[in-house]
This record gives sequence, C-alpha cells and structure tokens, in this order.
Amino acid sequence: MAVLQNFVVDVVERMVDNVLEERPEVCLCARCRQDMILRSLNHVKPDYINEEMLTVPLEDLDEEIFASVLSAVLESVEVVHKYPRHDKKDQVDLSPAYRNYSEDYLDIILTKALSEVDDVCTCDHCLYALKVSCLTEMEPRYFSSEKGRLFVKLAEMDNQLLCQTLVLVYRSFDQIRKSPAHLTPEQIKGFS
Ligand SMILES: [Zn+2]
Ligand SMILES: [Zn+2]
Repeated sequence: MAVLQNFVVDVVERMVDNVLEERPEVCLCARCRQDMILRSLNHVKPDYINEEMLTVPLEDLDEEIFASVLSAVLESVEVVHKYPRHDKKDQVDLSPAYRNYSEDYLDIILTKALSEVDDVCTCDHCLYALKVSCLTEMEPRYFSSEKGRLFVKLAEMDNQLLCQTLVLVYRSFDQIRKSPAHLTPEQIKGFS
C-alpha cells in the first residue's frame, strides 16, 4: 500500500524556516525548531491528497492554505520563543520524521471495525482511501515519539474519541461501498 503522507508537513517546515530567517532573535536550536513545527502541524488541517504541495513554492500555494499555515507558524514561533524547552533535561528524539499519531490510533480502530463487516473492499486502493477520508477529518496529533506512544495508549481508553472516530470510519465505509477506490474515475462516473 502507498505510504500515507501528510503533504502539509513539508509546507510547514519551509514556512517555519522562512519565518525564522526574518526573526534573528528567535532560538534556532534543533529542539526549538522541532517544537515550532510540531505545534504548527497540530493547528493545520492535514492534507494526504495534494502531492503537488511538495513542489509548489510557498507564495503560489492556495491562499487559504497559505494563510492557515502562516498563522499557525507565527503563533507557534511566538509560543516557543516565549517558552523554549531547550534547557529541559528530558531526552527528546530529534528525528526529522514528523508523525501524526492519529494515523496509529486510526489503524487500531479501523482494523477492529473492518473485522466486523464483510462488504467493504480492503484492497490497497480502498484501504488507502478509507484512511485518507478519516484522517482528513481527524485532529492532527504530532508529538515527539515518546509522547506519541503515550497518546495512543490513552486514546484507546477514551470513549468519546472512539465514538467520534467510529462515525468517520463508518462514513468512509459508506463512501467505499458506493464508489470503491479501485475503480477508475471513468468507471465511477458510469454509475451516476
Ligand atoms: Zn532553542
Ligand atoms: Zn478495492
């Protein structure tokens, strides 16, 4: 199956670096930069569809996306500048891979829900479409890896989150029943 990728990550990284260039008074250490990126990512709607975001220059982005990324980044730079965590003794994994832990949580819920139905296609294309459909509506949850694992553990005990997620999961099942993702757009048009 194609690997899930939130294309907003790349845009946020570029925007953070752009903003930091104009703010020489802000700390540029790896931890502060990572905190700014993680915090920004949690405030921008994820996009698992528009791969062209990887190559489009920031100034050519859709205006609404540009504005929402910029405002998340500006706010995150302020917060991290005001409350830097670079002096904290705790070990932080400064890996360049930013992970949306909603993906991990969704995998658990989706696997259970799929085991209870037998009329939803789970071919690679359909499974991918199911995940993208849910993740686009779920809150993004970007954390350092230790906090991320803790989130998934706690999330499994959160009934409200389970209900919200199941609504999205069942809705995505309906979408796939009506128009399976393994069909070409022409085949889908043929149904209507
Ligand atoms: Zn710093
Ligand atoms: Zn399929």
